[in-house]
Amino acid sequence: MKIRELVKSFEPYRVTEGGHPIRLDKNESPYDLPGWVKEEIFEELRELSFNRYPHITSMPMRKAIARFYGISPENVAVGNGGDELISYLVWLFEGDYIVTTPPSFGMYGFYAKLNEIPVVEVPLKEDFTIDGDAIAEKSKNARAVFIASPNNPTGNLQPEEEIIKVLDTGAVVVLDEAYAEFAGKSLWRLIEEYPNLIVLRTFSKAFSLAGVRTGYILANEEVVDALYRVKSPFSVGIMTMAAVKVVLRHYDLVERRVAKIIEERERIRKAFREFTYPSDANFLLMRLNAYEFLLEKGIVVRKLSGRLNGHIRVTVGRKWENRKLIEALREYLEVEGCG
Ligand code: PMP
Repeated sequence: MKIRELVKSFEPYRVTEGGHPIRLDKNESPYDLPGWVKEEIFEELRELSFNRYPHITSMPMRKAIARFYGISPENVAVGNGGDELISYLVWLFEGDYIVTTPPSFGMYGFYAKLNEIPVVEVPLKEDFTIDGDAIAEKSKNARAVFIASPNNPTGNLQPEEEIIKVLDTGAVVVLDEAYAEFAGKSLWRLIEEYPNLIVLRTFSKAFSLAGVRTGYILANEEVVDALYRVKSPFSVGIMTMAAVKVVLRHYDLVERRVAKIIEERERIRKAFREFTYPSDANFLLMRLNAYEFLLEKGIVVRKLSGRLNGHIRVTVGRKWENRKLIEALREYLEVEGCG
């Protein structure tokens, strides 16, 4: 047995340090589904045949999402997390490489590397917005261009006109809107105008379903059809489909929670305005080298590196968690002599 050399170039997955009560490192929703919503999901499950494979192209769930948007299920594809869909989108299209815009979500590069697809990086500008002209220049032989808006880990929405510049080249654009609910803005309707636009969304953030693992794309029928020819057939199970069907019935709950998270996000930002970037997502980018200090206090955040060395990304938590975070960061600033 000889494991491929490429595999060794990947970092092993690190488990987040256990035993810390406050977990603000994965941009999850801090709110679990209420018991009564779980009960509704359990009711759905009671009716299902656990011995049978799920629908091969996840039609029940695609229909539920399509109804939610008022579009056809032929424009919706679902996956085991947005991540699974990204794993296909890096190689589904003809071209020589993918384009990414660092600092951004790491999984685009991860799956490209796994498939031995080169990555052309067009860094974000100083203000963390994309450079539409520079991307357009690089997009000619690209399989796809990956743009996250709001971007992770910087938190900002990308300007529509810059995205349009890239779309107008005809290149495939994967617009990753994992955090769109927190921005209150989405460009998904542009799929009607641009067959080269693929909008990626997830149930892991605003919908409180990170543990269920599911995400989806909204795109042209041709893209959806192509994806279902190659996608792992049964990656979205019956339990996932039942959970999604139920949470979509309770979007008002999602909206109320999103509003609460935004309120908390702004509260944290106000306390550390000098060190915190504006955010359109459920997390904040902070120019504070406080990862270890916070860990000592039992608060886990995301430590960033490279261009964002010395920065942390902090997911907005529950009110009491945010209070602890604010207290700890105030103490950090005092200790560091910046307070
Ligand atoms: N895109 C971005 C920008 C993300 O931050 C995440 C989650 N960290 C995802 C996609 C994928 O989320 P999931 O696989 O949980 O759907």
